[in-house]
Amino acid sequence: MPIMNSLCWLCQQPLAIVQHGICSVCLNLLPSLPVCCPRCGLPASSQTRQCAECQIIPPEWQQLIAVSDYCSPLKYFISRLKFYGEDKYVPLLSRLLLLSWLNARRIRQLSRPDLLISVPLHHTRHWRRGFNQTDLIARRLSRWVNCRYLPDIISRHRPTPSQRNLSANQRQCNLMDAFSCNGDVRGQHIALLDDIVTTGSTVAEISRLLLLHGAASIQVWCLCRTLKS
Ligand SMILES: [Zn+2]
Ligand SMILES: [Zn+2]
Repeated sequence: MPIMNSLCWLCQQPLAIVQHGICSVCLNLLPSLPVCCPRCGLPASSQTRQCAECQIIPPEWQQLIAVSDYCSPLKYFISRLKFYGEDKYVPLLSRLLLLSWLNARRIRQLSRPDLLISVPLHHTRHWRRGFNQTDLIARRLSRWVNCRYLPDIISRHRPTPSQRNLSANQRQCNLMDAFSCNGDVRGQHIALLDDIVTTGSTVAEISRLLLLHGAASIQVWCLCRTLKS
């Protein structure tokens, strides 16, 4: 009789590798992304050429990798990790992001970043929650991708009210001057990790800051890219 932990979280069949969390059948059934622009990560006609919107107003970053739209089951896994501290989801979410990055690397000749940075929480929110979920994922990814991870290089020096229920414009104002860069990033190709990218205002603000400090390029890595606003 298999113990509960050794069953796939989605279909309840026994798992070959317990740490994987979901079986290979469910892995292949995860909702796939449509063809998306390599820069903004929104649906487009080509996955290698940037879309018309990006050609007119390019985002601050150069490339975006996502695993899924903001929908189940990833939405559920992320919320269990984020709000209930269930770190059993960390290996699976990290692995999914790694697979998406490897896939993008194959299709778009994406370069290996020198440096991985995760979007920070303000320390009071970090303290209340006890951990930063993207930090746990970043630690694994930096080992697997073989790039440096600097957890404290970006700090959020004032708490920003939750971005939920704000318009794109309000989000932008909410974030202005919220972050500072505390290290030398000159010439570095950077991967910036966030769990969910919706309007992109947080990763845009941090990308802008990193480029201002001399970073060579930014790839945004996220678990979910919200495709509908
Ligand atoms: Zn399964
Ligand atoms: Zn685009």
